[in-house]
Amino acid sequence: ENETGLAAGDGLMLIDGELRGAAGGGTFGVVHPGSEEVVGWASDGGVGDAKRAVGAARRAFDETGWARDVEFRYHCLIQLAEALERQKEWLRRVLVTEVGCPVSVTRSQIDEPIDEVRHWAEYGRRFEYVADNGVHETPMGPALRKIYYEPTGVVGAITPWNVPFYLNIAETVPALMAGNTVVLKPAQLTPWSGTELGRIVAEETDIPAGVFNVVTSDANEVGAALSADPRVDMITFTGSTATGRAILAAASATVKKTLLELGGKSAHIVLDDADLSAALPMAALMACVMSGQSCILPSRILLPRKHYEEGLGILAASMANFPVGDPWTPGIMQGPQISRTQREKVLGLIRAGIDSGARVVTGGGTPENLPVGYYVQPTLLADVDPDSRVAQEEIFGPVLTVTPYDTEDEAVAIANNSIYGLSGEVSGADTDRALAVARRMRTGNVTINGRSHFGIGSPFGGIKQSGLGRRNGDEGFKEYLESKTVGMPV
Ligand code: ADP
Repeated sequence: ENETGLAAGDGLMLIDGELRGAAGGGTFGVVHPGSEEVVGWASDGGVGDAKRAVGAARRAFDETGWARDVEFRYHCLIQLAEALERQKEWLRRVLVTEVGCPVSVTRSQIDEPIDEVRHWAEYGRRFEYVADNGVHETPMGPALRKIYYEPTGVVGAITPWNVPFYLNIAETVPALMAGNTVVLKPAQLTPWSGTELGRIVAEETDIPAGVFNVVTSDANEVGAALSADPRVDMITFTGSTATGRAILAAASATVKKTLLELGGKSAHIVLDDADLSAALPMAALMACVMSGQSCILPSRILLPRKHYEEGLGILAASMANFPVGDPWTPGIMQGPQISRTQREKVLGLIRAGIDSGARVVTGGGTPENLPVGYYVQPTLLADVDPDSRVAQEEIFGPVLTVTPYDTEDEAVAIANNSIYGLSGEVSGADTDRALAVARRMRTGNVTINGRSHFGIGSPFGGIKQSGLGRRNGDEGFKEYLESKTVGMPV
């Protein structure tokens, strides 16, 4: 901890109720993306640590009352929510330190997830774990059927680095409240949002040993070990489609349940009656906050040809003046990319776009006034060929691609020309018409005129190669339960 606000976690894992380092003694550095400096250390756990954590989670599921005692789980998760609330400013600084996201935009990444812990505690307490399925005729006479919703078992939760605290909560708290036990594997770049959650669980709640475990590692093999371990019943994962495929393949050996939120390449169809001055500055903002490191970002803007140059002008003005800089400075809305590798990937895709005929309207490189830190200029690419790499691959940077279209059918076809199907956006004055277009988009979620699809009360997830299953909403809780239908004489 120092005067710039940097906050280092202690980097200890949580295994079977004990805060500890890696069995092999290894550590790895955590880098602040704003300074490019190693600011502390995390435990480099190995497959042995992962197996020990899975064993503890298995025992806690099979041998403690956790899976059956809803009131106790409620008590523990309310304790957790209160403890997180008390340590909120610390957690915020840990997040900004390891992600480099601007402190000004952390509300949705810290405050809201803490509220969500409370939400899941209340939701899981009210949930009806047994439902009457009615009386059915059978050859043996009438059968009364009941449906019991039971926890799935041991859940392996593998999380990415872009919104680590939020996703650590979103992937583990509903699982816990549903009666499962959990092994959390945070991303290499952002271990502390996970280890600090583990520390708070261990030090400030009555959650029994083994119910919640955190294993960090500098290698992908720990996540792979979780995905293949026969004692793990389910994998919940958020991350790239490539990693999702590897997890699905590993999980297939034991036919594990999977909940996968993968990549996206969402389109924003701007209809010809849209209010450009409202829709486009918001689109630019969405592209730049979080440095574009968001799976739901509508990064492909489709503009009607007759408003093309006007639309590009509005987008360019918003992006050229976007406040990029040191994430600790209030008012800054875009910080650095998370790592040198990610910055190179973004710059490479911008170059690939230019090579395939795209025109740079603004940005296109790194900001001259920010020589230290992994910064990328907000970048607007026009005349983008919908089949080109920059229009097909997820960029995860502050980059919008723009393509003109002539007819609504053409816009829908371009929007759906993707292996991904996570989300989409439609802007237009006539809501019925915008809704008709939204219904034709092959995605799991659509926002119309800025009225977001996203929130804890509504199911969220992708189709096509954007994933399997849903988070949030009623469906998001049921993902962590198995239904058991019991037939009996009336
Ligand atoms: P990125 O490539 O942008 O770092 P990933 O989607 O690959 O993002 O990583 C997200 C999470 O998946 C991380 O916690 C990472 O450790 C984990 N992971 C990576 N490879 C595998 C794998 N083969 N099996 C399981 N988890 C993995």
